[in-house]
Amino acid sequence: MDRKELIEVKAKEKYLSVTWQVNNFCNYSCSYCNPGNWLGDFRNEGELEIYLNNLDYIIDKYQKEDYKHFKFFFSGGEPTAWKHFIPIVSHLKEKLPDATIAVNTNLSRPLKWWEKHVHLFDDIVASFHVEFADKNSYKEKNMFLCDKVNYLSTKLLLHDERFWEVVEYGEELKKEMPNYFIEWTPLFDEMTVNASPWTYEDEDKKKFIEEHSCEMEFTIPKPYKESKAVSWSQYEDGTEKPCNSNDVIVNRQNFFTGWECRIGDSVFVSPTGQITLASCGVSGPVGHIMKDVRYIEPRTVICDKEHCHCGTDIIIPKRKLSDDEIQVVQINEEDDFLAEMDKWDAEEKDWADQSHLGNPMKNIKE
Ligand code: SF4
Ligand code: SF4
Repeated sequence: MDRKELIEVKAKEKYLSVTWQVNNFCNYSCSYCNPGNWLGDFRNEGELEIYLNNLDYIIDKYQKEDYKHFKFFFSGGEPTAWKHFIPIVSHLKEKLPDATIAVNTNLSRPLKWWEKHVHLFDDIVASFHVEFADKNSYKEKNMFLCDKVNYLSTKLLLHDERFWEVVEYGEELKKEMPNYFIEWTPLFDEMTVNASPWTYEDEDKKKFIEEHSCEMEFTIPKPYKESKAVSWSQYEDGTEKPCNSNDVIVNRQNFFTGWECRIGDSVFVSPTGQITLASCGVSGPVGHIMKDVRYIEPRTVICDKEHCHCGTDIIIPKRKLSDDEIQVVQINEEDDFLAEMDKWDAEEKDWADQSHLGNPMKNIKE
């Protein structure tokens, strides 16, 4: 285990990462999923122009501050079911051709839909949910996508009662897909804030999970796109390596209290449209994707959380301060960002979100 002291997470060139949970509607309702992730009472169906203008405003602001790279990760609910999804992704692709665009989807859209839109995506995390997915159709789309995008994760959710059926299906996919990256994924409440592991009682299932996490094989060419939107771990002995949030967690190095964190490098849009910097809660609400994005900008805070939980938060650039710097930071109250935000949030009373009152999603098979 790597126990060198981590002193900085850094970006060699500044990048903005946007994680956007577009709404809370999903066309599946998996038994292990929190209804808050599929119920659809927040549909975010405001006017497209407003989303586009607000996104442009944010991007322009970061570009002026010398942010060179951009990364967008869409999830939901089911993002491909959102009526604004393709117009927004197309707009981003046109404005920022080098940006990394990733989506977390249940892959239920038909093959024709993916044929038409695959050029918009670099990374696809395709979750398989045995209670709802059509096995032949899911396989067909994986076969199509596996040499069309930079990264395709075939993420198989290990449903407790149908565990071995999923395993058998995964083995079948491995035989047929010329390229595969399969993630055997134990159930956990991954879409809630307090992610906690599901307990499998059966010893054979536990053993399978211990022995299997990812399997991959690539036998035919696929597009390669180097992402410059990457973070590096810097250690106290002068060494560095690409920052992998799992490694940081496993090494119990995700405790950054008192560190200076560039929290504004990560923008998180919740299903209601509310925006925070990072997902840790430290910034509090700083805007709304439909209503106000004036305060979305590069920001630095001194972390006051004991524990940095989430993978996207862990890779935000941050550094440990020296004792001398800590003294200086404590007396510098001029840029008290959090107090400023509290005041501003208290004044903003018109965020009662009405955008969920749009029409129910049309037919996902379209
Ligand atoms: S687990 Fe994913 S596919 Fe299943 S209901 Fe929840 S959001 Fe939808
Ligand atoms: S908990 Fe928040 S403020 Fe603290 S290091 Fe993580 S992302 Fe930054």
